[in-house]
Amino acid sequence: MRKKLAAGNWKMNGLRESLQEIKTLSEVAVKASCEVLICPPATLVQSMTSISNDIIVGGQDCHADASGAHTGDISAAMLADCGAQYVILGHSERREDHGETDELVREKTRTAWSNGLTAIVCVGESLAQREASNTIDIIGGQLAASIPDNATGENLVVAYEPVWAIGTGLTPTLDQIGEVHDFIRMRLERRFGEGVGRSVRLLYGGSMNPKNAADIAAVSNVDGGLVGGASLKAADFSQVIAALS
Ligand code: PEP
Repeated sequence: MRKKLAAGNWKMNGLRESLQEIKTLSEVAVKASCEVLICPPATLVQSMTSISNDIIVGGQDCHADASGAHTGDISAAMLADCGAQYVILGHSERREDHGETDELVREKTRTAWSNGLTAIVCVGESLAQREASNTIDIIGGQLAASIPDNATGENLVVAYEPVWAIGTGLTPTLDQIGEVHDFIRMRLERRFGEGVGRSVRLLYGGSMNPKNAADIAAVSNVDGGLVGGASLKAADFSQVIAALS
């Protein structure tokens, strides 16, 4: 039985005053039957872990190297040292803004694993790729190249995030989400074996909000959500958490 996961991605949003949202969210998280994870900017990871035991904290990226001359980057060990348990890798905004390739995401995932972090590996097609009916091929390629061997249900979460749905208010139909999630499940089972393949949680991400979360959560092989905009305010994210509980 896979426990549902409500994961919030704060992106480049959040100052110390935003920790107030976490205090409110903690009261919701403690009663929720799903896991609640927030991935704040790196500047807030440490303080977030110290104010709540009920909210799991994650990073939004890590470098592929263990340490070294990489000005401005953050290592997996640094995140773990601050109490992070998860890290988002290969988000489409990093693939787009920083030219991250599947191969780099695979390296980063290895490094995350070496430091005891669970990697949330993001995959997703662009609008042009969907319109050209290439979605399944694109997702298959990203899965194969971005995920290292030795995945387990504990060290890996896969997030399906259609690029055109992120921050746009657009979402795929429930059938389209189900088709991709079933495909991801099938690919994971084929590559890692049924036991592991069935234990990896699959999140949907892209304009998930209090209104659509329950419908999306009911789709086959959707084990939770990776939520951007609607995770910034406790009032909104609480409703997403309720829909996943
Ligand atoms: C995301 O950042 O991963 C995301 C899905 O953003 P939004 O929910 O704002 O579309």
